[in-house]
Amino acid sequence: MTDWSTEALHADYAQSLRVDKLIYDSETAHQRLRVFENPTFGRVLTLDDVVQTTEADNAIYHEMLTHVPILAHGAAARVCIIGGGDGGMAREVLKHATVSHVTMVEIDGGVVAFSRQYLPSLSAGAFDDPRLDLVIADGADFMRDTKGGFDVIIVDSTDPVGPGEVLFTDTFYGHAKRALAPNGILVTQNGVPFLQPQELTNTMRAFTALFADATCYLASIPTYAGGPMAFGWGTDGDARATPPDVLQGRFDAAGLAPYYYTPQVHKAAFALPGYVARLLPGS
Ligand code: SAM
Repeated sequence: MTDWSTEALHADYAQSLRVDKLIYDSETAHQRLRVFENPTFGRVLTLDDVVQTTEADNAIYHEMLTHVPILAHGAAARVCIIGGGDGGMAREVLKHATVSHVTMVEIDGGVVAFSRQYLPSLSAGAFDDPRLDLVIADGADFMRDTKGGFDVIIVDSTDPVGPGEVLFTDTFYGHAKRALAPNGILVTQNGVPFLQPQELTNTMRAFTALFADATCYLASIPTYAGGPMAFGWGTDGDARATPPDVLQGRFDAAGLAPYYYTPQVHKAAFALPGYVARLLPGS
């Protein structure tokens, strides 16, 4: 019998991926973790049956949450990743020679151990990079207590249910802002606005109260179904206005060979369709 993995994230809409081979299935202290193979997407990681990452399309998500803030900043040395257990975000951050230190705070050591073993192409050696400091802790607790000084903070969280819920609160965002260096940038995974409009509205309301420049940008990731995904963007600096030629120069200097990111896509990602723009305060 054909086995399908069906996501139950939304009340009346679901995506299913065919499970050709189940590689791993277990309960960690925090969530149910599964990896299976699908012909189109390669190995697929699900947490509580919600797709987290796939071998085939993860680059889109990871590149847009790393290269956009890091290249817009221009001199990001200290980066913090909240969540990110599969290692894909660390992989992309560490491609930047400007980055001297990455603190990654993941609540579930099981996801890290498991991803290293069963999804090694996701981290691609990032966990062995001496610039990476891996902390197994709740990201909200870490942010409350850290001295900070981060040039870029990336929130690579699950959706706002279960352990990820605290990472969508005003309190967490306030602590994250405090942990940024001057002109630092906070970016967040903010769901698919067509299906999760409230999630984006809530974050944008909080960001608008905290930051001089608060908005979101978009990318379409096939397994985060339902239209483009939104990424929250908050900073007191003017990095969003970096001219295209400056961005191109930084991109060339970084020596990246991305699957999805280009400086042109970077600029275009901030152009919001009407239905997304209307979810932001003041529209
Ligand atoms: N890209 C995925 C998506 O949008 O569905 C999410 C990526 S996955 C790497 C998210 C990670 O966040 C998981 O490894 C999960 O364990 C971690 N996480 C969830 N809640 C957390 C918390 N409170 N603190 C730190 N990490 C957390």
